[in-house]
Amino acid sequence: MGREPPKYCQLRTSSSPEQSARKAARQSSLRTIRKVAPYLWPKNNLRFRLRVVAALLALLSAELILLGIPFIYKAAVDALTLEAETSLVHLVSLGAVFLTIAFGVARTLNIGFTQLRDALFAAVGQRALRNLAKETFLHIHQLSLRFHISRKTGGLSRVIERGIKGIEWLLRFLLFSIGPLILQLGMVCVILWIVLGFWYFLTVVITICCYVWFTFRITEWRVQIRRRMNEQDTDANQKAVDSLLNYETVKYFCAEKREAERYDKAMAGYENAALRTSYSLALLNFGQSLLINAGTVIVMLMAAIGVQNGSLTVGDFVLVNAYMMQVALPLNFLGTVYREVRQSLIDMGDMFDLLEQPIEISDKPDARSLVVSGGHIEFCDVSFGYDENRQILHRLNFSVEPGTTVALVGPSGSGKSTIGRLLFRFYDVSSGSLRIDDQDIRDVTQESLHARIGIVPQDTVLFNDTVHYNIKYGKASASEEDVILSSRMAQLHEFISSLPEGYQTEVGERGLKLSGGEKQRVGISRVLLKNPPILLLDEATSALDSETEHEIQESFQRLRRGRTVLTIAHRLSTIVDADLIIVLENGRIVERGTHEELLFRDGRYAGMWHLQQAEELFVA
Ligand code: ATP
Repeated sequence: MGREPPKYCQLRTSSSPEQSARKAARQSSLRTIRKVAPYLWPKNNLRFRLRVVAALLALLSAELILLGIPFIYKAAVDALTLEAETSLVHLVSLGAVFLTIAFGVARTLNIGFTQLRDALFAAVGQRALRNLAKETFLHIHQLSLRFHISRKTGGLSRVIERGIKGIEWLLRFLLFSIGPLILQLGMVCVILWIVLGFWYFLTVVITICCYVWFTFRITEWRVQIRRRMNEQDTDANQKAVDSLLNYETVKYFCAEKREAERYDKAMAGYENAALRTSYSLALLNFGQSLLINAGTVIVMLMAAIGVQNGSLTVGDFVLVNAYMMQVALPLNFLGTVYREVRQSLIDMGDMFDLLEQPIEISDKPDARSLVVSGGHIEFCDVSFGYDENRQILHRLNFSVEPGTTVALVGPSGSGKSTIGRLLFRFYDVSSGSLRIDDQDIRDVTQESLHARIGIVPQDTVLFNDTVHYNIKYGKASASEEDVILSSRMAQLHEFISSLPEGYQTEVGERGLKLSGGEKQRVGISRVLLKNPPILLLDEATSALDSETEHEIQESFQRLRRGRTVLTIAHRLSTIVDADLIIVLENGRIVERGTHEELLFRDGRYAGMWHLQQAEELFVA
């Protein structure tokens, strides 16, 4: 569970940890603003820059018109009160009519310019949002497997979602609300001083200061509560996603109730935090109203006394009222704006944290494209551990000659799949090097490395789209004929043709509408389509029946021709024809040789082989 929100009374005494937390928050907000700014003033895009300038001009025009409106109002009221006292009725009422029309025109113009400002800026804002979303998405894909394994997808997508929403709020409020608001408040105060005197100015300034101080203090406190609410929201979401992803496991263990209770517990935390948010909002709104109303009543009383003793006109009284309304409205808004901007900055801060997450595996500045001539793979003294304090692979030395097949066998957890991950450079080796055709894979671009290695993983995960989409994923530019040919080679075409919707059949989330064997064959077809010079087969035929397996083995024979293949196998019967078999145990090579050689040696491999043969006989 998260931290307790700070007690209200703590706000009065600023302890140093609190100060440093505020400082950190301010710095993080500044960082966020600095990061967003270039997106709003895009380089090499004159059209967008012109839009920003035009939007700012529209904003300024709207503000100036708004400030003039109370004067028109005052003049109209003065003209009307004068009408009652003078004989020049015609002339004065003409002026009053003109002023009333001017009042209407000014208000319309103000609204017109405000809308024009929004319309002009919308395209810039939306483009900024799109670019940032894309950049974040791209960055997340660049982060290491280590990061993705330890982060929960549900939580990650929430961070992006809230970050993007945060940008929208920030653009809407910070740029066109807080800036103009400060300008407007300053100008109103100055006008009141010039027109009505220092005391009016002072009263309004004190009111505004108290209001702003109160709003900011309470909002800071509320931000902690909101953060806790966010944490609880993310937690509940993660639990829901995790549970739904494990739908089948939940059913196997009759754990629906248990899962619901776990989810409900997380939701209870959210409920609690959400209630605190509502209560604190009520306190904030009430306090704000109290302060602004008190200020308004005081200046209105001062003006009323002025009218009574003849130093002010009724028009002046109306002017004060109009300006106080003008101050009160945006100030009311300031509370919301500050809250939302503060929240947006936090949400965006989380997203920028993600964007600043260092990329563990990155290309060297001078990285070249991998050139594969024969596909010679060499593991030179490779050691590796996922964590520093647990070594998984110990000084491995072996090579896969061009166009040959090397099989990795060994008990579960011996490090076979880890070798595959290293070859694909999901992780970097702790020591030693991994070379392909004499090029260290750390010196070449990951894109070129990934393009030349084809993988059929242990468990093929599919996109929630059609079978066609999933096969074509192997090569975006593939023709229809190629897609069908590859699916024929993987013995998949007949099955797909028997489906009512053929290649347009939807496979469901993670491909769950297909059987394990069918998924694997989709995985094989897309690698066949990719047609890489190096193949990594991770127990690729484990989920197929023996007849299909035999057919696929034939396809693989064809595919292997002229290619280098590294196979990770559990069932030794699938790798008897491998050019070299490497037996691993606890991350060390304990035996190597061909099937016959290893049987002859009568060591670990021979033991495993006899055991599996006996098991297969037993099953048969
Ligand atoms: P299997 O045949 O069961 O798939 P394997 O031989 O392929 O096993 P690996 O998956 O390579 O074994 O795992 C080797 C060891 O590394 C295991 O002890 C495993 O617990 C550990 N391991 C695997 N992935 C990670 C990870 N992401 N973080 C930490 N340790 C890991």
